[in-house]
This record gives sequence, structure tokens and C-alpha cells, in this order.
Amino acid sequence: MAPSNRDPTNSRHVAVIGAGAAGLVAARELRREGHSVVVLERGSQIGGVWAYTSQVEPDPLSLDPTRPVVHSSLYKSLRTNIPRECMGFTDFPFATRPHDGSRDPRRHPGHSEVLAYLRDFAKEFDIEEMIRFDTEVVKAEQVADEEISGKWRVESRSSDAVAEEIYDAVVVCNGHYTEPRHALVSGIDSWPGKQIHSHNYRVPDPFKDQVVIVIGSSASGVDICRDIAKVAKEVHVSSRSTSSETYEKLPGYDNLWLHPTIENAREDGSVVFQNGKTVYADTIMHCTGYKYYFPFLDTKGEVTVDDNRVGPLYKHVFPPALAPGLSFIGLPWQITPFPMFELQSKWVAAVLSGRVSLPSQDEMMEDTKAFYDKLEASGIPKRYTHLMPDDSQFEYDNWLADQCDYPRIEKWREEMFYIGFKRIYAQSATYRDNWDDDHLIVEAYDDFVKFMS
Ligand code: FAD
Repeated sequence: MAPSNRDPTNSRHVAVIGAGAAGLVAARELRREGHSVVVLERGSQIGGVWAYTSQVEPDPLSLDPTRPVVHSSLYKSLRTNIPRECMGFTDFPFATRPHDGSRDPRRHPGHSEVLAYLRDFAKEFDIEEMIRFDTEVVKAEQVADEEISGKWRVESRSSDAVAEEIYDAVVVCNGHYTEPRHALVSGIDSWPGKQIHSHNYRVPDPFKDQVVIVIGSSASGVDICRDIAKVAKEVHVSSRSTSSETYEKLPGYDNLWLHPTIENAREDGSVVFQNGKTVYADTIMHCTGYKYYFPFLDTKGEVTVDDNRVGPLYKHVFPPALAPGLSFIGLPWQITPFPMFELQSKWVAAVLSGRVSLPSQDEMMEDTKAFYDKLEASGIPKRYTHLMPDDSQFEYDNWLADQCDYPRIEKWREEMFYIGFKRIYAQSATYRDNWDDDHLIVEAYDDFVKFMS
């Protein structure tokens, strides 16, 4: 598809960091708006998190800052937790295509189907020609030189060279599921068992006949405890969102129990839960999420990560003091990511060309501060700044769409997301294969017709 070029005088030279779903769609939208785009990707293929690898890091907790980093955190059995119809980009349906004999047609397909979809997307829009693979950004900072003030210096490293280049803008799309967060467990330093973070979990085999404690009961915890329960002697899930007395066997399993948080771990190998139960475990698996991490970014303190709040950022995208030259795509979570990445990218592209204006720096700061004050007044910790619960994600998506004069999110997509999200917790073991929203699938495919040839 030919790139569009609106007005060459408004074209900017833009570096996109990362070629995952966010970087791919950012590159497409920036080029559509007439910008010249270079995508710098440290891996050797597109897809980011969706490029599954059996490789893991040598340090199972990923604590060593000098360790060789493995980007993807996917486990072998992973199937999407969002139905494919609502997961895809708005104008490139993640549909089950009739001619796809070799592909995974399931509604919640395995990870390789998502990678195949992203490859189709990259091919359809000729995105690979903008990507430099095996090229890691090691530094991005605003230049000090007055003559080119406002521009960005990007230093990157590939196998044979270190390059320094000047760009008008940098769009950060480096993902946030690679740098683990760990649970703080009293007594853990003298507990003799093994510990691992889900970032380094791939297959259940190493846990055969073991007693395993899984800390965390959100998306990864829900999947991994069941994956391991197939081979382990016992699996005990510790959840902080259950009452302190909880002690129940999870339906469909003889060896899988739910507990509240851990009280402490002891030298004799025992782990005591808040409900008073004691378990002698071989392994503790931390399914406790990830940290935002931008080791390459030097903003002279204008953007910080404080208790997992990346800020200050106007609408989760632009730091007021550095806008529009620096932007972030893909920070929000508990969302349907691809459509949001697409809308954020359209906004960034339009702001960079001047087609859409941002408020003044002071106004953006005030808006951002008002948002943080609101979170604080509601008792929401900083680490949930980019969590978008309930209907806030679609309000946000629609705000972005309005900025860019693009159609709002389809009603069927919103409804499908809510229904699907509730199903994850109500039918954790079966939600991917049992559903009752066929009417929404029909609506989705009616909509898809206009994008599918
Ligand atoms: P990533 O996919 O992480 O891509 C970032 C890219 O940046 C990578 O290619 C990386 O190599 C590159 N990079 C990083 N640092 C540098 C650097 N310094 N220089 C150059 N390149 C760099 N989403 C869904 O929609 N549905 C699901 O079912 C779903 N399940 C998930 C399950 C798990 C276990 C996880 C971890 C995530 C899941 N997600 C799911 C969320 C998923 O992360 C997003 O869908 C999306 O793929 C994130 O894309 P991204 O481009 O922001 O980041």
C-alpha cells in the first residue's frame, strides 16, 4: 500500500523504538501522516512479546541487572485472553480467514496465531522496510546544541556498529512485560526452596511431582497454576484479592488450592498463609507482574518512573515539558491493547504534523496533576496510574478518536471486552472455549466485511 504524504513541509523524521504491536502500528500511522520513520528493534523479528521463545534468562528471578535479557514472557501453552475479534486493530480485523487452513482458527488462539496476524499486518502495510533489526537503542536524549534545539539524539548498537543519529521526535514502544516485579515475602531470604518469576516460565515439566506456590491470581497466575497442576503434586495459589480465611480447592482439580496472601516463609521450607495453613513447598512462582523500564531514556528528570507511574504524562502519552518530541505508546494495561495503540499512534502522528494541536505545557501539566490528584483522593496507589478499569479505557479510546477525527470504538467491541473480561474470572478454566456472546461475533464480522477482501 502506498504511503500517504499529506504535506511534506510538516513531515518529521521520527525514531520509533521497538517493533512489537505498538511500534508496528505507530510506524504505519506516522508514515500515513507523511513523516519519515525509522523503527529500531533490538530483536531479529517483529512481534515483541508475541515472538515466543523457549529461551529463558539464566537468573530465574531476573534480578541481576547485567543479565542477558530475553524479551518475551510468553509460556508455550498461552492462548489469548481477549477474544480475537475485539483484539485486532480497528481496520485490519483479527478474523478467522476462510483461506487459513494452516492457521489457528480458535476464538482465543495460541500465541503463534497472534504473531502470524502481526506479520500479516506488517506485510500488508510494508512496515518491515522501515525497520532496522538487531539494533538496540542505548540512549535517547534531547540535544543540547541550540542550533538544533528540540531535536533528539538517538544512540543505537548493532552487532557491528554504534550509530548516533538526530531525529525530530522519538516514539517509545519498548513494551512493559520484560522487567519483573516480585512479591515481598517475609522470611524469604532464608527459605531454602527455588524461586522463579513467570517471565522465565515456559513449560510445566520442570515442576513434575513438586509442591508449587503460585503468587498472584491475575491473567498469568490463572493460566500458569493450571498448566503446572497437570504435572505437579500440589499447587497452592496465593491471592491478595481473596478474604484472609479463604482455603478452597479450585473446581476441576484435585491438587489446586486457593489461599490468601503469605504470612511468612521459613528456614525449614514451610510457607504459612494468612488463613493459617502451612505448606512445605519446592518452588515459589512469582506471577506478580512487571515494571516499566526505560534504561535508554535520558530526560534529565522530566520523566520518571515512580512506583510504576511513568510521569508526568499528558493522557499517558506526552510528557508536557518534552512534547511533542517525546511520546509513549502502549503504557495502559488491563485493556484491549491493539486498538488503543492504534488510536494513540494516530494522535501522536497528527500532533507531530501540526494537524492536531496540544494544549499549552501548563495546561497539560494541570490536566495531568488533576488526574493524579483524583487517583490519590480515591486511594488508588501510584502503581495503578496506567491501569484502566471499567469503562475508562473506552472513554479514553474515544477521546483519542475524537482528537483525530476517527470513528469511535465499535459498541460490539466494548461489550465483547466486558463480557470476556468477566468470563476470565468466572470460568477461569473454560472461558476460552465456552461463551454466550455469538450475537456480538456476528456484529463484528458484519463490520469486518468492509476491511476484508
Ligand atoms: P512488546 O510486544 O513488548 O514489543 C516491544 C518491542 O520493543 C520488542 O520487540 C523489543 O525487542 C523492543 N525493544 C525493547 N527495548 C528496546 C531497545 N532499547 N531498543 C530497540 N528495541 C527495543 N494482549 C492482548 O491483546 N491479548 C492477549 O491475550 C494478551 N496476552 C498477554 C499475555 C502475556 C503473558 C503478556 C506478557 C502480555 C499479553 N498481552 C496480551 C499484552 C501484550 O503485551 C500486548 O498485546 C502487546 O503485544 C504489547 O506490544 P508492545 O509493542 O507495546 O510491546
